Amino acid sequence: MNSQIKRRRLGKTGLSVSELSFGAMNLRKLSSFDEAYKIVNYVLDQGVNFIDTARAYKGEIAPGVVLESEMVVGNTIRQRTDLDEPIVIVTKGHAYTVPDLERELQISRDTLGVEGKGNLKIGQNDIKLIYFIHGINEERWQTAKQSGALERLQALKAEGVVNFIGFSSHYANAKEIKEAVDTGIFDVVELPYNVFNRILGEDGEINLLEYINKKNMGLINMKAFDGNGMVPIYNVLREIIDIDYEAMLRFCLSNPYITTVDAGAINKEQYDLDIKTALGRRFDQGELVALKAEADKVSKHMKNICRECMHCLEKFECPNKLDFPKVLSVYSRYMISDKLGKDTSKFVDQYSKLELNGEDCLECGGCVPWCEYKLNIPEMLKEAHKVLGK
Ligand code: SF4
Ligand code: SF4
Repeated sequence: MNSQIKRRRLGKTGLSVSELSFGAMNLRKLSSFDEAYKIVNYVLDQGVNFIDTARAYKGEIAPGVVLESEMVVGNTIRQRTDLDEPIVIVTKGHAYTVPDLERELQISRDTLGVEGKGNLKIGQNDIKLIYFIHGINEERWQTAKQSGALERLQALKAEGVVNFIGFSSHYANAKEIKEAVDTGIFDVVELPYNVFNRILGEDGEINLLEYINKKNMGLINMKAFDGNGMVPIYNVLREIIDIDYEAMLRFCLSNPYITTVDAGAINKEQYDLDIKTALGRRFDQGELVALKAEADKVSKHMKNICRECMHCLEKFECPNKLDFPKVLSVYSRYMISDKLGKDTSKFVDQYSKLELNGEDCLECGGCVPWCEYKLNIPEMLKEAHKVLGK
């Protein structure tokens, strides 16, 4: 496709990918397949050649109707007759043992409609498939190391079942991220980073973004500006600080260690703004310093809050059917607003209307390992009820 979006080299894969990519997670927020196909087609129309999806990126868009992002991505690519370069697809599995890895990967390939070995295709179109271990944390990383999954993953790459391998992780797992990078087996990493949270970058013990870049690995940036986990919080923050989505995206695009920034747009208008930003200028050092100072006015209040990222519910359901992210999101918004001296009455009202609330938590702890931000969920639910359940 004739694209103006700049390409960057995806580390040792040697692939040349658009510096603005498309994150398919938010497709599950749409209300029809038609809207989902429209946005993925629009992304491809713009010459974007990198799509980030996962087995877990699916959701019920209407009663009994499940939208799987892998299926939408695969079907869209299959129907195109105008693609003149391979589309690079990342998909991920919550698979940390050999049997889980083999099963999840097979389902992902089937759902995407990938055929062949080595030279992979979807329909008539060449693709490059990068398979990720999804969401490495302490426990999952231990399991993956001990179960033989890492060796099997490398073998699947050697057999051409996938073209490259990688992993994703989150803010709280710097130690495991470094250890995984140091194995030398992975080609690509996906990490969250944005102007409000630079802990995996320049604010960390080591700058992992720089470290990964020096290791010649590709780096995908998630949660840069509109991924899950930023959208709900940003709605609270934007009343307080002078940073818009455009500035957040430009901030990440200005980072030289990042290969591609994931955009989670769900319609043409949103993606048009992303493209306009990607085609625009980058921040200079002075602007970056000023932007960070503005972000730091609020970033200290963003610790230990629920981001409504919904990662916990991808593989887990509370035994008491408590929608705990919902409860925590009301509580987190209340807490941020309270700390910043803003009106909190609407959050008190929202809490009073919840069908089940913090008081309905059985404190079984089952949800805790599934939180990407390592929140003490039962403790927070108790606190939420103490503060909001009056
Ligand atoms: S600790 Fe509470 S919210 Fe978490 S799974 Fe148990 S009952 Fe549900
Ligand atoms: S509880 Fe944790 S994983 Fe679940 S939505 Fe909140 S921040 Fe995300």
